[in-house]
Amino acid sequence: MKILYNARIYTFDKARPLASVIAFDHGEIIAVGDDELLTAFGRADKQDLQKYTVLPGLTDAHLHLQYYSLSLQKIDCETDTLEECLQRVKEKVQKAKAGEWILGHGWNQNIWGNWPSAADLDQIAPNNPVYLTAKSLHAAWVNTTALKLAAVGAGTPDPKDGQVQRDSKGEPTGILLENAILFVSDFVPEPGTAALAAAIEKAQPILWKMGLTGVHDFDKRDCFLALQQLHAQHRLKLRVTKNIPVELLDHAFKIGLRTGFGDDWLRIGSVKAFMDGALGPRTAAMFQPYIGEPENKGNLNMDVEQLFEFTRHAADVGLGMTVHAIGDRANHEVLNAYEQLRAYETENGLPHLRHRIEHVQVLHPDDVPRLAKLNIIASMQPIHATSDMIMADKYWGERTSLAYALKTQLDAGAHVAFGSDAPVESPNPFRGIYAAVTRRRPDGSPGPAGWHPEQKLSMQQAIEGFTTGAAYAAYAETRQGILAEGALADLIALEKDPFICNPEEVKDLQSSATMVAGEWVLEF
Ligand SMILES: [Zn+2]
Repeated sequence: MKILYNARIYTFDKARPLASVIAFDHGEIIAVGDDELLTAFGRADKQDLQKYTVLPGLTDAHLHLQYYSLSLQKIDCETDTLEECLQRVKEKVQKAKAGEWILGHGWNQNIWGNWPSAADLDQIAPNNPVYLTAKSLHAAWVNTTALKLAAVGAGTPDPKDGQVQRDSKGEPTGILLENAILFVSDFVPEPGTAALAAAIEKAQPILWKMGLTGVHDFDKRDCFLALQQLHAQHRLKLRVTKNIPVELLDHAFKIGLRTGFGDDWLRIGSVKAFMDGALGPRTAAMFQPYIGEPENKGNLNMDVEQLFEFTRHAADVGLGMTVHAIGDRANHEVLNAYEQLRAYETENGLPHLRHRIEHVQVLHPDDVPRLAKLNIIASMQPIHATSDMIMADKYWGERTSLAYALKTQLDAGAHVAFGSDAPVESPNPFRGIYAAVTRRRPDGSPGPAGWHPEQKLSMQQAIEGFTTGAAYAAYAETRQGILAEGALADLIALEKDPFICNPEEVKDLQSSATMVAGEWVLEF
């Protein structure tokens, strides 16, 4: 048994919000209280936390663990100059074996002033294929070795919805746009299970430092295999809720897999479907056209009947659903399908599962109360509000009063769970908490009041999204996101108290020590 004492413990347990002593054994909390526990558990091993602030370990309720972990192994191409980027590529090439793929991400030709070219890379990487994706993911920059491997030359026609950039003689320049990216990306080898498991293992300490002890993962089969391998080898030290892609629903149905199967480390979450696209490419399904594009209302990926069929099929075996919906029309249709599903669950004596909508990015005013009414979880990403604000104002205009409307959903009584959608954004939950509380970017924009300040959350609400909210979405509210008897001993220690410090300091908070299952995985 072990005791941590002399701490400022925010338990997120309504029965006892504050404490200074916590006792745990075999990875589980046995008591939370104050100095009386020091005498009650007199023989326990004691550790003085020297007034550090303690919170439950945070959970990112929407992240792509595989792509995030692999992104950490790529060259960071987000540099101010082309030369800097080339220098990084050169260093990577020097350490690589001949023929090994060199991967990178994050360049932006607008910052560099010009498109880069294959020739730039050929000088430093004559023998390795190089594949570097743009920050936008709408372009890739490759070298001649990669073009040759993919057999892309002057005679290669452009694909549908894509373009091979060419010089005056018709030769590829090394820039591939949109679907032309697939010409080369199809040749980039996928990492095997062991390599992916190793990448995830390397990502764990980075996530612990950010304060995360749990994630809800939205990647697919390869990621699940890697997670199971890590788990079997006792290398998994994050609590993972694993969602299943809807294209595999039938297989899950046939083997009788259901939401909740697994253990405290790795558990089956929901079936993930996509109702629409995104704001950036203006493919999110809207009731009214995008500003400046009178013909464009985005696209629905399926109709409500099709979606209801998926949800019904899933519900029959006890699988919950989670549906990506960005636009107001997409959210509306998903809510319609869930309304039918609730009736179906009732008629058939099935449990009302905790179905979710991912993003809930903009709602029609009539739909605002419906998530709470149907008990649908709003899985939202506070950081998207400030990352997207300029784009959202430009294309949605006045509709942004109900966009990224965290507070509106809380006020309506919906359960909310917060995440980052990493690697789209950093998984750092304190960046998300900062955005939720200030509605500002770390650079202070759009000004002191923040963007749609009426949507600002309290610190308590913001942290709840990453603790009790995420736990509820995973049916883990008695185990995770709370420091109470019977919960897992997953916690973080902070040098500064986010409830007291200047909100500006919150964006830079990091965990000084992170405990998972009663063990300091990140030490002071
Ligand atoms: Zn996602």
